[in-house]
Order: sequence, then structure tokens, then C-alpha cells
Amino acid sequence: MLTRREFTRLAVAGAASQVVSPLLAQGGDRKIGYCIIGLGRISMDHFMPATLASKNSRVTGLVSGHRDKALAQAAKYGVPESSIYTYENMDQIKNNPAIDAVYVALPNSMHAEYTIRSAKAGKHVLCEKPMATSVADAKAMIKACKDANKKLMIAYRCQYEPTNLRAMQLIREGHLGKIQAIESANGFNERAGEWRLDRKLAGGGPLMDVGIYSLNACRYLTGEESPEIKAFSSVIDHDGRFDTVEENVSWTMKFPSGVVASCNTTYGAPMNGFYRVHGSLGFLHVEPAFIYQGLHLTAQFATPGGGKPTILDEPNPSRDPSQFVTEADYFSSCIVEDKNPKTAGEEGLRDLQYMSKIYESCGLPTL
Ligand code: NAD
Repeated sequence: MLTRREFTRLAVAGAASQVVSPLLAQGGDRKIGYCIIGLGRISMDHFMPATLASKNSRVTGLVSGHRDKALAQAAKYGVPESSIYTYENMDQIKNNPAIDAVYVALPNSMHAEYTIRSAKAGKHVLCEKPMATSVADAKAMIKACKDANKKLMIAYRCQYEPTNLRAMQLIREGHLGKIQAIESANGFNERAGEWRLDRKLAGGGPLMDVGIYSLNACRYLTGEESPEIKAFSSVIDHDGRFDTVEENVSWTMKFPSGVVASCNTTYGAPMNGFYRVHGSLGFLHVEPAFIYQGLHLTAQFATPGGGKPTILDEPNPSRDPSQFVTEADYFSSCIVEDKNPKTAGEEGLRDLQYMSKIYESCGLPTL
């Protein structure tokens, strides 16, 4: 979670992407080398292309179960064949000095094993969300990285993204007055056959995958922790997709200040990710709020001193993979400058603890 000072620094620095490391500057073009673990949609379509635009990050290793796919990606990113590993022999990355860090982009239940093995191999870890599929695994991941003296960041890209930072700024600077309530939703219609529908691999349904964006947003927008939580879940489509995970979750939270939040997530409908924040002086609305491009903030709040209200209409022109460039740049700068990432393992752990409470309130298995 960003403190006010950290937030201001990130906002001023242009969403962290402008952070220039003195060590990098001294070291010429030395870039942090990433070994990509899992060649799927998020790694091949977003993160790896982003490294080509990153000033301090590059791909130097691959872990895949598919040799042909790995060879094709290796050719694209200039990775030597000797730096292609399998899931079985990936521990050998410890002998590869071109690999400083790993990017874990596997199904959720595999995050813990590959984070821990990577830390033991002496590598920093950027791990996709949700951090893990159990609170115990998340704690073990934090411990493994601490024991190895390696950094662990959970890939909460929205916390480094300019439109979300702008929303935080407007709230922190008091433009909306006293925040009273938040609404948020995020979901999509999931296809049959996806690992996301298998509890063993996913840990749960849409809450773990996309509801987590609304949950995390309520936390970074309010800057508050430890909400009281009540929730419902349901399955409407008995078509085989929801035999092991939920289809819908709706939850409400009450934060210590009294801010109430109401969120929905689904795997049964195209649900454009958004949030709307209501304060005593006005509101802000970001929609879409969580996807890779096209984010759009609107707001209306009382102008200090009276007169016409201030109206904001701020479409974000950035194109994918800019959010991943920022994310890679930021984690690499943390490594070079020996800084603890804003979204370290503890941030992912807190979301898991809250999601466990949501499931508990629904009468579903906890995490
Ligand atoms: P994907 O299915 O496209 O890719 C998963 C990769 O894991 C594939 O390379 C697959 O071969 C490999 N894999 C290894 N063992 C597997 C197994 N037993 N079953 C299935 N795949 C296996 O998934 P994805 O959409 O790239 O998601 C990967 C991770 O990234 C997930 O944790 C997801 O939550 C996260 N993600 C994050 C964002 C974001 O914006 N930050 C977006 C999408 C996904």
C-alpha cells in the first residue's frame, strides 16, 4: 500500500516509469535480466513485449514445458538456447548470471512452488496475482524470499498505472471530501475448459482472478485495511463450468473510517471493470479501470470557494503494453536501488486473507 509520500513520489515521477536508477546510470546499459516462467497469454502477449520498451529490463531466460514454443520466443527476444529451462530443471537458473529475476506467470496454484524455487536459486521474484491459492503458501513465499535476501513483488500493475494513481491523488488531496462509499465490479464470461475453472489450479473462481482488482482498488483508494466483510456467492449456469468454483460473488466491506464498499465479480457475464467513489463533495468514476488500455476517469466535485462544480473527463491514451513497461521498470529499479517494492508479498497476502474471509462469509472453502 502506498503511503502519501510514496504516492506523491510515484505520481511526480510519472507513475514510476521515470525512476532512473543511479546504479543503472553508472552501469551503462546493464539491464535486469528476467527469466519468464510460463509462456502463456500474460507473459507472451504483454510482459515480454513490454521488456522491449523497458529501459532497464530484458528477457534472459525461459521456463516452459513446450520446447518449440520456447525456441520461438527465445529467437524473438535473443535468449540463448542454453537459457531455456523446463519445469523440472529450472533450479539450474542459479548458475546463470544473466538471470537476475524471474516473472512467474503460471496458473495460480503454481505461484508458490516457482517463487520459492526461484528464491532458493538466488533470484528476485515478480509474481502474478493472485499471489497464491492459500494464506499458508503466501506466507511461505514471503519467508523464502526473505531467507534468500531476494525481493518479491506481486504484479499489481494498477497500483503503478497513471489513471489509478490520478484517482488516488484526487482522493488523497481531498477533492471528493470525506469518502463515504465505493462501488466496483469486474468480471467476464469464462470459456469451458480453462484452468481458471479448476479449483486445484485457480484456488477459486472469479474472485481470485478478477474480483481481486475491485478488492485491491477499494484498499488503495481508501488507503485503509482490516475491513469487516459480508458476502454471497451463487452459481446460475449449471453447465459444467462451475462444478468446482463459484460463478458469482457479491461482497460488502466496511473500513475502519466507516467507508462502505460494494463489489461484484462474475465468470458468467461481460462485466466491464469499474469503480465509482462517492465523497461528501462529489464523485469520481473510472471505467474501464482495470484493463490494459483505454482507461477513463470522470469526476465531478465542488470547487473550493463555490461556483460551478469542477468536472473532469480524462481518457488515458496509453496503449498496451505500457502498464507492463512501467511495472517492469519499477521492479527492476527496486532491485538496482535495493528498495522494497510497494506491492511486496505482504500486499498479496492481505488480499488472500480478505478473499478467504469473503469465501468464509459465502460458506465456501477458505484459502
Ligand atoms: P495462460 O493459461 O495463458 O498461461 C499459463 C501458462 O502456464 C502457460 O504457458 C501454460 O503452458 C503454463 N502451465 C504450466 N503448467 C500448467 C498447468 N498445469 N495447467 C495450465 N497451464 C500450465 O494463463 P494467463 O492468463 O497467462 O495467466 C497466468 C497468470 O497470470 C495467472 O496467475 C493470472 O491470474 C495472471 N494474470 C495476470 C494478469 C494481469 O493483468 N496482471 C492478466 C492475466 C493473467
